[in-house]
Amino acid sequence: MHPKLGAVHHIGIAVRNLEEAKKIFAGSLALPCVDEKTLSERGVKVAFLSAGNTTIELLEGIGPESAVSKFVEQRGPGIHHLCFEVDGIERVMKELTESGVRLIDEKPRPGAEGRLVAFVHPKSTLGVLVELIEK
Ligand code: ZN
Repeated sequence: MHPKLGAVHHIGIAVRNLEEAKKIFAGSLALPCVDEKTLSERGVKVAFLSAGNTTIELLEGIGPESAVSKFVEQRGPGIHHLCFEVDGIERVMKELTESGVRLIDEKPRPGAEGRLVAFVHPKSTLGVLVELIEK
């Protein structure tokens, strides 16, 4: 069985300060900001910038315990994750697990857009955090 990942839905970039990051990506690089929200339960503030067929998700951690804050603390700001669209997220998660890929989430959960998401453990994907999002 081959789990099917679809198109890159978005690229997540961890930043120290969302407003400063928007000045660069929405200002200097002129990528239009299409949405912005605070996800308290996930410990992040996010801004979505439109980039042709994909989206850039800027993430600022809220508080030192946030996973994004820890990432920035350890590695500095930069690319944090890649998100791929999948058709049938629970099935894809099951197939990935069966093929030996470690997942962070045991079950999909609602993501920033309300669509179901789940994360693959970066230890299984050469240090790259991979997010799956239901199509
Ligand atoms: Zn994401």
